[in-house]
Amino acid sequence: MLLGVRSSARHGRPARHLRLLQAAAAQLEPDSELDFSDPRQVFDKKSTPELVRSLAVLKLCSQDWFVDNALPILRGSERLLGRRLLLALARPLYSQFVPGTCEADLAQAAARLRRTGVRLVFAHMLEDDLREGQTLSALLDDNLALTLHQFGMATRVTAGEDTPLHPAQADRSGEFCERHGLRTMVDGEYSYTNPAIGLLTLALAANFNTQSPLIWGTTQCYLRDAEQTLTKHLSMVDSLGVSYGVKLVRGAYLEKEVTRALKLGIPRPIHDTYQATSDMYNSQVERMLGRVAALGDRSAVMVASHNENSVRLAVRLMAQLGLPRDDGRVLFGQTYGVYEQVSTPLASAGYAVYKSTPLGDISSILPYLARRAAENRTVARGTRSERRLLAAELCRRLGLTGS
Ligand SMILES: Cc1cc2nc3c(=O)[nH]c(=O)nc-3n(C[C@H](O)[C@H](O)[C@H](O)COP(=O)(O)OP(=O)(O)OC[C@H]3O[C@@H](n4cnc5c(N)ncnc54)[C@H](O)[C@@H]3O)c2cc1C
Repeated sequence: MLLGVRSSARHGRPARHLRLLQAAAAQLEPDSELDFSDPRQVFDKKSTPELVRSLAVLKLCSQDWFVDNALPILRGSERLLGRRLLLALARPLYSQFVPGTCEADLAQAAARLRRTGVRLVFAHMLEDDLREGQTLSALLDDNLALTLHQFGMATRVTAGEDTPLHPAQADRSGEFCERHGLRTMVDGEYSYTNPAIGLLTLALAANFNTQSPLIWGTTQCYLRDAEQTLTKHLSMVDSLGVSYGVKLVRGAYLEKEVTRALKLGIPRPIHDTYQATSDMYNSQVERMLGRVAALGDRSAVMVASHNENSVRLAVRLMAQLGLPRDDGRVLFGQTYGVYEQVSTPLASAGYAVYKSTPLGDISSILPYLARRAAENRTVARGTRSERRLLAAELCRRLGLTGS
């Protein structure tokens, strides 16, 4: 689940003629400002030690032996060395992707991101495994308490409001989000849990999206049925007459989904090729941007991707459709700590960019770290990898190249 506070620009939306002018200007050269390859601009606000750490972590994440076994390696080290020693050893990896464990750490991360015009969207981590001796109902109670605690924290950090949230308010957490303009994006998970998650999300949307899209769903475009599912959800919210926001992702659980399908002898729920996933992703970006342009305030989309082509496509379409860069209806989302070459130029050009930021101690965050390691292997193999940009900027700072 991702939590973020509505952009303040939302309340001061430009008049229509101004919006048209902005659109026309943007249409001339829609993404000429978007240079994803200038290391100096991208890492301007990063210290040299931060660059060294990023380079080392991305190098590690490009190693198959590590990425293929990241979770067992991290879990095994925790058992063998204990949590404190593991944290000491894995500190660079942890600090790259996680700002810390508490609200003060989150506030610091938010302040650091603000320097580059990037905002924070709080990635809310819940336990999905029963601990030894724990009942399901105790797990759900613990998760609810954590949710309420983190709702309050997200509001204080992102909106600067000091609003304690008491357990008695559990059944009113939706109202809490409504009162504080806290947008809640419900994540897409596994193909076999998504139908229930989708229904719950729609039920929440029916209750709380009467004025604006507070509750968002997620569409994972690596799923073969992504388009049909989204069609169903959109027609449902339309028939209820409520607003809706959609976070578009490619999808994070490819290996698990494929392995499970093979094991159960069921059809693979994921597209056969990366290209098919990308085609689906880009077509849904186009579809959702068209919907935002047509429905105004009742619709919103987050292009949650690190893929430069998808981001460029979204930017080009926004210009063609006359969509303002930052009025709260179109957001871009990337992972905290990486893909600065996408986030920084986007934010500098005035688009609404959010970094998905988790909190948690090393052991609660191990599966997250393992997923990020796997994700970064793809990026490290990309044609213009972040690693190369980091190396170029380090060389420049150390006087090893010209310019
Ligand atoms: C803000 C934010 C929110 C997110 N929320 C969610 C969420 O709710 N649920 C979720 O699952 N993920 C979520 N993610 C993770 C997201 O799915 C991954 O970041 C994303 O898949 C990485 O793809 P990309 O668009 O950045 O680009 P790329 O690096 O171009 O694409 C990599 C992706 O392509 C797909 N792919 C790769 N190889 C193949 C293949 N052989 N066949 C088919 N498909 C392939 C996979 O989805 C892979 O992750 C979120 C990410 C962000 C930044």
